[in-house]
Amino acid sequence: MPDASTTQLALIRQLKFCAGHRLYRHESRCAFFHGHNYRVDLEVVAANGGHEVDEVGRIVDFSLIKKRMLGWLDDHWDHAFLIYEKDENALAAIQIVEPVKYFVMPHNPTAENMARYLLEVVSPHVLSDLGVIARQVSLWETTEACAVATRSEHSVAISPAMPGVAIVKDSRNPVLP
Ligand SMILES: [Zn+2]
Repeated sequence: MPDASTTQLALIRQLKFCAGHRLYRHESRCAFFHGHNYRVDLEVVAANGGHEVDEVGRIVDFSLIKKRMLGWLDDHWDHAFLIYEKDENALAAIQIVEPVKYFVMPHNPTAENMARYLLEVVSPHVLSDLGVIARQVSLWETTEACAVATRSEHSVAISPAMPGVAIVKDSRNPVLP
C-alpha cells in the first residue's frame, strides 16, 4: 500500500447481549428492575494511526474482535444484572436470588456509562495485544436509543483500570465459576 495515504481506516463489529438493570435514583419507570436486548457497535482503529493494513488487507480480522469483546460480554454482562455499587437496595435484593449472575458497576448502568465502560476499561483490556484500539462504542439500549462514547483525539494514555468480574451463584452446578 502507498505510504502517503492519508485515508484513515476503521472497522465496526456489531455485538449483541441481553442484560437486566435499573437506574438508581431515576425519577420514573427505569428505577424498576427490567432488561434490554443490547447491541454494541464497536469501532476500532490500528493503534499506530490507522493508515495501514496487513498483507491480507486487514486492520485486524473481524473474528478476533468478536472473539475478544463478545467473549467478555458473554462472560460478564450477558444474562446478568448490572447494578450500581451505590444501589444498596438492589445489591441486597440480588444477593438473595439463586441461581443468579450480576455485575457491580462503578457508575449507574445507563447506556452512556455502559458505553464508556466498554470503551475505557474493557476494550484496552481485551484488544491491547491485537494492535488495535477502540475509537468508539455505540451502545443501543433499544432499536431507537443509543449512547455513544468516543475516544478524544487528545486523550492521554492512562493505564486503564482492570474490568470487574461477574458474580455467579449457582448451586445447581458447583463447578461453575
Ligand atoms: Zn433500561
